[in-house]
Amino acid sequence: MLLRHTTKDIVERTSLTINPAKTCQPVGAMYAALGIHGCLPHSHGSQGCCSYHRTALTRHYKEPIMAATSSFTEGSSVFGGQANLMEAIDNIFTIYEPDIIAVHSTCLSETIGDDLTQIVEKANANGKIPEGKYVIYCNTPSYIGSHVTGYSNMVSGIVKCLATSTGVKNDKINLISGWVEPSDMREVKRIATLMHAPFTLFPDTSDVVDAPQTGTFEMYPKGGTKIPDLIASGDNKASLAFGEWATADAATKLNIKCKVPFEVTDLPIGVRATDRFIMKMSELAEVSIPDEITAERGRLVDMITDMQQYLHGKRVALFGDPDQLIPLAEFLLDMNMKPVYIVSGTPGKKMHKRLEELILPIIPEAKFKNGIGADMYLLHQWIKEEGVDLLIGNTYGKYIARDENTPFLRMGFPILDRVGHSYFPTLGYMGGLRILEKILGLIMDKQDLESSEAEFELVM
Ligand code: SF4
Repeated sequence: MLLRHTTKDIVERTSLTINPAKTCQPVGAMYAALGIHGCLPHSHGSQGCCSYHRTALTRHYKEPIMAATSSFTEGSSVFGGQANLMEAIDNIFTIYEPDIIAVHSTCLSETIGDDLTQIVEKANANGKIPEGKYVIYCNTPSYIGSHVTGYSNMVSGIVKCLATSTGVKNDKINLISGWVEPSDMREVKRIATLMHAPFTLFPDTSDVVDAPQTGTFEMYPKGGTKIPDLIASGDNKASLAFGEWATADAATKLNIKCKVPFEVTDLPIGVRATDRFIMKMSELAEVSIPDEITAERGRLVDMITDMQQYLHGKRVALFGDPDQLIPLAEFLLDMNMKPVYIVSGTPGKKMHKRLEELILPIIPEAKFKNGIGADMYLLHQWIKEEGVDLLIGNTYGKYIARDENTPFLRMGFPILDRVGHSYFPTLGYMGGLRILEKILGLIMDKQDLESSEAEFELVM
């Protein structure tokens, strides 16, 4: 009943967003920075912003997320935050001893026009950055874009500030990770290792935001891409970037800066997107595909075939980030399901075009929208027009799911009310099996709950 005022009468809105399907840029920048070993993210703005970004990540990953802040006061808001950041760099290296600080801006520091390039150069010139330590940075004005834009900006910041070319190429490929769970990053490494592909994965938050409980607090857990590997990424022979929105900019910048050719592929969600990833990695790294990977694919296809009767024709509504939504919609189509409604608060014209090509030839009535006006209120209005059998998205979807009595698969960021997402991958063929298992569980549970006694089945 919380959303009882949602009507199905859609009124064109140009300046009002209700329940946005996105969050703020620095959250993404902070998450990307955590994928560097020994890194302390730093929020150049007020304490409140930093507190929110840390809270959002802590609640999703169930880990204490460490970050520093420039702690703007009224004075820095008027006269600029240079002095605060200079002092912060000094204090952080002295007290918290990270190997690297990753600075991102906030709405406030962007609005007053703080120049991070100039401030970091000045910090360097004034000897505030100790020998062998690094400060990288990126701009994350949150009044444009989304958390995905912020993630992308920090990954590009890593390339801009660290990647170096010696002029001698090596055999490794860069795997530039999109915004996925640490379990997904671990899965990509497992697949690359199985294929004997020499690689550097960055950012890599596995063993950082899902670090094991050892009884001892580690300010900098053992995970994260090592700084020498990030510097050497400019010498790697090629890059494979996962997701247009989160990584294409970094791959492009690495090519411009260090002449590393690149391919952008979808996040490997489902059969076809994983096929493209495996084939592309095989081509770029010049390695063959082992039987074990082929067997994993076969198991996923077998499960889809076995359970077809529960999946066929089921209508699905999705919301989240474009890099996830596109291959996920493709996976649903491959299972003969119907992704009928899709929204994302992250802007970018390519999403509409990709979904149009993918979905409309099969489901002409499907509706999708991203960027301004694409919020969860609109998604709910579409669902009110004609219901769905399944809703997929982050925790905020639980209000719609409850109101509409719709099975709800939690996927994406943030997930605040369940666990497991950071431990079990949804990428690759094994990840596809997990998505499928969850979808089937939800659909079959509903059938069990709502079927008449005569139709209640023991064997399904
Ligand atoms: S003010 Fe801007 S940067 Fe700070 S929390 Fe709000 S949206 Fe994010």
